[in-house]
Amino acid sequence: MIIAVASGKGGTGKTTVATSLAAAVPADTFLDCDVEAPDAHIFLNPEFQEQKNVDILIPQVDLQKCTACGKCADVCQFNAIALMGQNPLVFPSLCHGCGSCTLNCPEEAIQEVPRTLGVLESGPAAHGIQFAQGLLNVGEPMAVPVISQLKKWRSQRNTHLEIRDAPPGTSCPVVESLRGADFVLLVTEPTPFGLHDLKLAARVVKELNLPSGVIINRDREGMSGEVRSFCKRAGLPILISIPLKRDIAEGTARGQTLIDIDSKYRKRFQNMFKEISSLSVLPDSQQRFHSLEG
Ligand code: SF4
Ligand code: SF4
Repeated sequence: MIIAVASGKGGTGKTTVATSLAAAVPADTFLDCDVEAPDAHIFLNPEFQEQKNVDILIPQVDLQKCTACGKCADVCQFNAIALMGQNPLVFPSLCHGCGSCTLNCPEEAIQEVPRTLGVLESGPAAHGIQFAQGLLNVGEPMAVPVISQLKKWRSQRNTHLEIRDAPPGTSCPVVESLRGADFVLLVTEPTPFGLHDLKLAARVVKELNLPSGVIINRDREGMSGEVRSFCKRAGLPILISIPLKRDIAEGTARGQTLIDIDSKYRKRFQNMFKEISSLSVLPDSQQRFHSLEG
């Protein structure tokens, strides 16, 4: 089973939840898909043993053969190649490596050359978990190919449990991280921003037709009413509520999972996983959830 952990808003404790669930069950595989700032390794202490570059192929024009017909620029949906006077100019950071320009060049004036976007790393981590992460090069905007290569490299559908720690937000890298998952855990916090971004994330998950549930982090007496009302209206079960407590804040700041900080979370996360696993993966099974809080 593949569970993706996501949050519309950054800083909600998504990685704390993802690594705690991975440690509690434990997971077979953990993929840190937050390739702009992967930090799950702080909690799960992997020993990286394998490394692999992520490259895409981008066009390089042979000006001796080019007749400046402009077909390459016409077919590029990303405006990554443009005719400047008589010369096609490639903008590497916009190129998605789709190959259309090469295929459509009537003069065979384009050859493809690799461009490195980032790196993948993997190795054994705490609790016997096989850990892998993607790391985007600094200043590089193309996160999606790094995430999709990470999934191809290490995602394993037939394992007992694979956890994917998605990037924050609701953009294309999040969608790529969630694609192929069986269930999405949405982590939120009881603040106006937390609720606003939870609504956006819930909409993305609904568009992808994936079953989901919510974890409220840093919950406080009387503060989560609006989040709870939204979840009820949206049919989103609240699976666990984690209170705002000093020992949890100090522990996570030291790189501890919730089960290292307070052993009762092991059972709570295990029960939540059992509940998720017992369900069909169809979205209408969402109605069968009951709250695991308490
Ligand atoms: S490979 Fe695709 S995205 Fe890149 S310049 Fe060619 S057509 Fe555009
Ligand atoms: S399609 Fe080929 S020949 Fe035409 S402008 Fe582009 S590179 Fe030159």
